[in-house]
Amino acid sequence: MSQKKVVVIGAGPGGYPAAFRAADLGMDVTLVDPASKPGGVCLYVGCIPSKALLHAAHTITEASHANEYGVTFNDPQIDLEKLRTWKDNVVGKLTGGLGMLMKQRKVKYAQGVASFSSSNQVIVQLQEGGEQIIDFDYAIIATGSTPVLPPIVEGESTLVMDSTSALEIPDVPKNLLVVGGGYIGLELGTVYASLGTKVTVVEMTAGLLPGADRDLVDVLKSDLDSRFDQILLNTRVEKISEKSGKLRVTLSDLEKTNSNMTFDKALIAVGRRPMSKNLGLENTNVKTTERGFVQIDKQCRTSDPNIFAIGDVAGEPMLAHKATSEAHVAVDVINGKPESFDPLAIPAVVFTEPELAWTGLSELEARQKNWEIEVTKFPWAASGRATTMGKKKGLTKLISEPSTNRIIGAGIVGNGAGEMIAEATLAIEMGTKLDDMKSVIHAHPTLSETFMESAELFYNQSPHFYSPKRKK
Ligand code: FAD
Ligand code: NAD
Repeated sequence: MSQKKVVVIGAGPGGYPAAFRAADLGMDVTLVDPASKPGGVCLYVGCIPSKALLHAAHTITEASHANEYGVTFNDPQIDLEKLRTWKDNVVGKLTGGLGMLMKQRKVKYAQGVASFSSSNQVIVQLQEGGEQIIDFDYAIIATGSTPVLPPIVEGESTLVMDSTSALEIPDVPKNLLVVGGGYIGLELGTVYASLGTKVTVVEMTAGLLPGADRDLVDVLKSDLDSRFDQILLNTRVEKISEKSGKLRVTLSDLEKTNSNMTFDKALIAVGRRPMSKNLGLENTNVKTTERGFVQIDKQCRTSDPNIFAIGDVAGEPMLAHKATSEAHVAVDVINGKPESFDPLAIPAVVFTEPELAWTGLSELEARQKNWEIEVTKFPWAASGRATTMGKKKGLTKLISEPSTNRIIGAGIVGNGAGEMIAEATLAIEMGTKLDDMKSVIHAHPTLSETFMESAELFYNQSPHFYSPKRKK
């Protein structure tokens, strides 16, 4: 059989794993991306640089809390240049590593921008000039997403940032307006607040992180209320204009009453949109939704049988690990395996202080769908480990199906929630019941014990939490 020719467009956490897996399976692979090395948004201007900066923010926060147990540090001295260099080195190491892995696998790399000329051919406008024509048996679209920029900024202003420019931390402004209380607004707001900026978050809906579990968000919000200068909910930013080196901002509340505020800088983080334009999709049979997502089936196949799509461009949730998981499905399907993308649980983590994470079915979703569920919540005030760390504000929540006692969802807010959520995701995918979770021995003292205690709570057997109402 002749070698399958595969072209992968976009080298983010969807595209590069797809290219690598296809090459590992013996296919002839070309990966196309404008950057010099693979990485995409995630490695260059997303997950990785933001988490490098959040690590610094975490260190500052921990040091400032240490006086609670008698250890006092001086106020932090921030060397912005060094912080930036450190973040850039982290990105450089990881993207450099991917470049090497790509060469070892003999994946061909076309540095440029691709567009379809037909259902079997793409043309790449090469970064170095000129074109490269690539004929393919299969194509995988992994072009990701880009920030939404609402038309609220009058003219142009270098004081208004998107996530990419905010990650450059050009300076530490005295005060910062963050438009949007979602993932990016809260994560990057946390970074700037830890560096000493007074942060105001403006969110148009009634709560931060709309769509996330309210019990978890309430705990996070109580912390953010002291970390940020202001959090304005049910508020829209109508207009931002630069005057004399400052930003004049017009806000409107639910009653449509306008007010004005002044800021040194603003970060706009109101969501991302799929990168499906200018791809030449009109020359193929690929269809997109009204919002521009490429339509795919459970095998990640578009309406053009030899063209697949994965990652942010193929729909929500716009998360790196969802892109990677879809990459594996698409390539296995091209390889003739009956795979499909059908997870019971996709973990989501907001890397704030404290972290917030959820997986599987949320209580909100179950209530909206009128599904019967059981909910148990174990407060970290009753956890030995959380107490030793001075992190008593957390919560671990399990959602189960009453007819089977199977765990179908989980949520955590607290230190290390992003690491802990893996146990719950595995539990859901393995069909674990509350009874199993209760009996699995968890090491003491650890935060992961809160899963076991949450399950014990269901049977009214938690040694550390007494709940007379729960009789099992
Ligand atoms: P991308 O990573 O967007 O990569 C797409 C690539 O395709 C890009 O390099 C782009 O230049 C290229 N491309 C586009 N069009 C073409 C074309 N025509 N020809 C060739 N190449 C093209 N997710 C998490 O899971 N965890 C996090 O902690 C996290 N933090 C984030 C922080 C920030 C600030 C941002 C902005 C995002 C974050 N995300 C996070 C989301 C995550 O980055 C995305 O979900 C993920 O990168 C999507 O991967 P992808 O492969 O679909 O696309
Ligand atoms: P988001 O969808 O998470 O949040 C956008 C917020 O802006 C929402 O709360 C929305 O109600 C609000 N909003 C919209 N228009 C507004 C307006 N005019 N005024 C005030 N508020 C407004 O989007 P994001 O924060 O830009 O992040 C984009 C995506 O990137 C996320 O949805 C997520 O998929 C991904 N991401 C993930 C992580 C992570 O996994 N830790 C981190 C960053 C980004």
